[in-house]
Amino acid sequence: MHIIQSRHGLVAHLLSLRKQGENVTIGFVPTMGALHSGHASLIDESVRENTITVCSIFVNPTQFGDKSDLEKYPKPIEKDIEILIKHKCDILFLPEFEDVYSAEYVHQKFELGELESKIEGASRPGHFQGVCNVVSQLFEIVSPDCAYFGQKDYQQTAIIKSLIQLTRSDVTLKIVPITREPSGLAMSSRNIRLSDKGRKNAAFIYKALRDIQTDAESRSLLELVDRAKQFISSQKGVDLDYLLAVDAETLNEATSIKESGSIIILVALTYEGVRLIDNIFLN
Ligand code: AMP
Repeated sequence: MHIIQSRHGLVAHLLSLRKQGENVTIGFVPTMGALHSGHASLIDESVRENTITVCSIFVNPTQFGDKSDLEKYPKPIEKDIEILIKHKCDILFLPEFEDVYSAEYVHQKFELGELESKIEGASRPGHFQGVCNVVSQLFEIVSPDCAYFGQKDYQQTAIIKSLIQLTRSDVTLKIVPITREPSGLAMSSRNIRLSDKGRKNAAFIYKALRDIQTDAESRSLLELVDRAKQFISSQKGVDLDYLLAVDAETLNEATSIKESGSIIILVALTYEGVRLIDNIFLN
């Protein structure tokens, strides 16, 4: 695996690879590191579908409103490199801040409409603008054919869809299902900040989502959402941010399963001081 730090080094390397043949396709997996099996599943999918896979590890400061969250973000780079080699990633892009944002770079404002200020955006103002700025820069550098994002950050996938349209990019967005710990807890780089006991207990999040799914035929959506909120809020040490049933396309709140198309339940909460998110499709 090649490890490349400089923007120009990566552009030049990818250009020379593209020149090697018309059938070269580049798959791109942007990450913030502290890699786990969820990230690895994105790498696997890209390796399966492309001739070259590029993974970036860059903890983008512009998407963190909470500076202590940024400071606490884990950076186990040696372990990350081992995982990437094991999963046959071809190139690791490991830029410094200046490699992503040149001295002349002006932070852009993307017209994301209400999508950026609701749900996750309401709790993390500016977060999705930060995501769009970094992803648009990374897309410019890598020029991928396909980019792989996780369903776990569901609203982020809708934002990236908008970004691709707004920038008239020809990148194909691929959304990869959520990888879970054996307990059902969605894998996240933040899970290592939970205590051992907390990490086991946090299975209540997936249980709440599964219970909604199981009873979706027999009870009203509002009733199911209320029950799940109560169940989660009754867990010790939990601060529930939101639990919502939304239309999977528009992310507008859904009130009944029959009236909408595909419905997804989105949840975010703080547990032992760690922000955790998860989701599940109902149909
Ligand atoms: P992050 O490093 O947290 O920015 O995540 C990088 C990419 O990995 C994003 O597209 C995430 O949605 C995805 N990802 C994170 N956790 C998981 C998971 N448990 N399953 C699948 N994809 C994930």
